[in-house]
Amino acid sequence: MVSRIIPVNEFDLVVFGGTGDLAKRKILPALFKRFCDGQIPEGSRIVGAARSAHTLDAYRDLVAEALSEFAKELARDQDALRAFCEIVHYVAIDARGEGGWADLAGLLKNEVRAFYFSVGPGLFSDLAERLHLHGLTNEQTRVVVEKPFGHDLETAQALNHELAQHFDESQIYRIDHYLGKETVQNLMAVRFGNILFEPLWNAQYVDHIQITVAETVGVGGRGEYYEKSGAMRDMVQNHLMQLLCLIAMEPPSKFDPDAVRDEKLKVIRALDSVQPHHIVRGQYTAADGEASYREDVDNPRSKTESFVALKCQVNNWRWAGTPFYLRTGKRLSDRDTEIRVVFKDTPHSIFGPEAGQHHNELAIQLQPDEGITLKVTIKEPGPGGMRLIDVPLDMSFAEALGPTVETPDAYERLIMDVIRGNQTLFMRNDEVEAAWAWTDPIIRGWEARGDVPKPYDAFSTGPDDAAMMMSRDQRHWRGLGK
Ligand code: NAP
Repeated sequence: MVSRIIPVNEFDLVVFGGTGDLAKRKILPALFKRFCDGQIPEGSRIVGAARSAHTLDAYRDLVAEALSEFAKELARDQDALRAFCEIVHYVAIDARGEGGWADLAGLLKNEVRAFYFSVGPGLFSDLAERLHLHGLTNEQTRVVVEKPFGHDLETAQALNHELAQHFDESQIYRIDHYLGKETVQNLMAVRFGNILFEPLWNAQYVDHIQITVAETVGVGGRGEYYEKSGAMRDMVQNHLMQLLCLIAMEPPSKFDPDAVRDEKLKVIRALDSVQPHHIVRGQYTAADGEASYREDVDNPRSKTESFVALKCQVNNWRWAGTPFYLRTGKRLSDRDTEIRVVFKDTPHSIFGPEAGQHHNELAIQLQPDEGITLKVTIKEPGPGGMRLIDVPLDMSFAEALGPTVETPDAYERLIMDVIRGNQTLFMRNDEVEAAWAWTDPIIRGWEARGDVPKPYDAFSTGPDDAAMMMSRDQRHWRGLGK
């Protein structure tokens, strides 16, 4: 298959936080991969910026080392590595100080300028202000901001307000890397590129929808951040909410940033408030030599959740009465991100009770492998009457599209979208605020009640209450813990 790379104009990309973990693990490897694919035009430059003093050579060494670790295969090509490092520059800048900005200005040559704020949100406003003050912005400037975008509605509004002082909304790219995943876009292709699904994509035919984002890892070294965040803020408010939007939204009139984001926003606004008995919080305990959550965060009385399962409804004509079950957690049995659209049973089984009751199911897997599976019912082969079984119609991208097609990392796609000026896969200010407006009362309710998360065994499927929430509805969770 021929790869069809859309060319971009030459650009300057400044990574504030260019020595940090995210830059080393994700941003720089993504840029290097695009570079090796010939997508970064000559004349473009990548500038790392952080407080620490580094000579240019020392920074290029740091970049080469990061690429050798996080883009191992490609970095074996020493010529490519060297060529990439030549377009990399470094400036020491404290976001809160005035030094270094003139050096940065001297490095920027291109009209298209992207500033990636890979630093804590407390520095966004300092950076935005100084970029303006030092005359580094133009009409083609874009700023990329990382999660967490706010801690609640009030802080998200304040951040939006601060950024809006210096940039037009069309220049602000709020990253949710889930939206850059191949399968997430395929979800839109499957829904809006096929006539097959749309007639069935509603409460009349869909029994319920499950969205699971499960990790086997604990909070690791992120304990301090996680204690203030918890699974609800860290995962549900952004990643799960975005997946829910893409599943539930109406077809936009075109694949255009605001048309797509308008439809997503309508979904968030149509979400009902979650009843306390429709939500389960959990916290992992110690197992298999691994520390418990409380040990990980060094707080024996922590009430922060490392697991959330909840049931919600989208109150509109398409989805009235169809539950959406969302589940996310750390230290679960599998690393598994998937969406299941579970269709209703056939209205009448002509094959009699012995054939069993069957239904179709569409599973969209995002992690660890990306792919789509449609479960269909067929006759069990062989003699013995009409017995039915479910078989998967599988579309593993790797198998269907062949080994020549490598799925790009979400950051590769998203960064190139920033350069192209395409905001479709980025969250708009009103979307983020609507998501917080829905999340805040849930969290405030827990705080007001002094709610303590239910303990669950590490490497299990989460607290029993999550399974009970489902069984009360005569349903069960799918995917995890098979
Ligand atoms: P990190 O490893 O702590 O790196 C922070 C970076 O910011 C360093 O380069 C640091 O360099 C720089 N920095 C700190 N204070 C600064 C200042 N006053 N002026 C200029 N530069 C400053 O953090 P990270 O993990 O890369 O995360 C960066 C941001 O991305 C955070 O907001 C985080 O929440 C978000 N994020 C990270 C991940 C991830 O996987 N790491 C995932 C999603 C979102 P100096 O100390 O040299 O200044």
